Amino acid sequence: MADYKDIIRKPETLGWFKAAMAMKITRDCLLDIVKQATHELYDKIRKVIKIKDGIQEDVVCSQCNTPKVLPCDANNKCCNYGTCEFHTIHKQQSCPKANLCNAICREIVANHRFRNRSKKQSFKGPTWVNTDACKWCNDPWQIAKCYLSKEGYTDVNLAEDIDFNGIVYVIYNCEFFQAYLKDNLDRSRNVCTKARDVGREVRHAPSNSMTSQESDRAIDTLVALLQNLKHVNHQFAAKTAVDMLTQKNKTES
Ligand SMILES: [Zn+2]
Ligand SMILES: [Zn+2]
Repeated sequence: MADYKDIIRKPETLGWFKAAMAMKITRDCLLDIVKQATHELYDKIRKVIKIKDGIQEDVVCSQCNTPKVLPCDANNKCCNYGTCEFHTIHKQQSCPKANLCNAICREIVANHRFRNRSKKQSFKGPTWVNTDACKWCNDPWQIAKCYLSKEGYTDVNLAEDIDFNGIVYVIYNCEFFQAYLKDNLDRSRNVCTKARDVGREVRHAPSNSMTSQESDRAIDTLVALLQNLKHVNHQFAAKTAVDMLTQKNKTES
């Protein structure tokens, strides 16, 4: 193995580091936006429930845990066939607040981009194992966690602890976030899937190295995602991040 100091000085190591830093800057910017938007998602869900179920928006519940509100179905990745371990202690039941938590569960599914693919393909709907339904009314982040791509985020109780790909998955998997981006996320290649691929590329880069072309391409993709934000306030916040990313490119390449 080459000398450690030589590895650090290699342009490919710097290229990888640049891309990793760019991901961190992008993640920090998107995190603020997603945290705020998650409250808006909760408000929207409550408005829909008021219309559909007649439950006022000031009614809240903190008594129903996830097994109580999630229908037992082996396709949901929590339950299993036969005796379901997920529902062993807590059976599914109606929320005492006029089925409020059951309705929130239903609306979480309704907002999931891949809600209809459960039967045809492997299940890609909400990741229930990550969430605690008792907190849905008090901490909307627990709703956002249902849109993470996979298990492994059970302990990410604070939005601040989420990584780059987690943020991108919340934006992509939850259709509510389409309203925040100009690109059509229904297309198979879009700003989110491209950013997700950058995340994978950087994480899986062999020997933590990237050529300058590879890191430039990665940074361009992240800039494109930030510049895709639709709302003026978000554009303003993203501009600082974009300036940092483009400046990095100019000074270091
Ligand atoms: Zn079950
Ligand atoms: Zn409840």
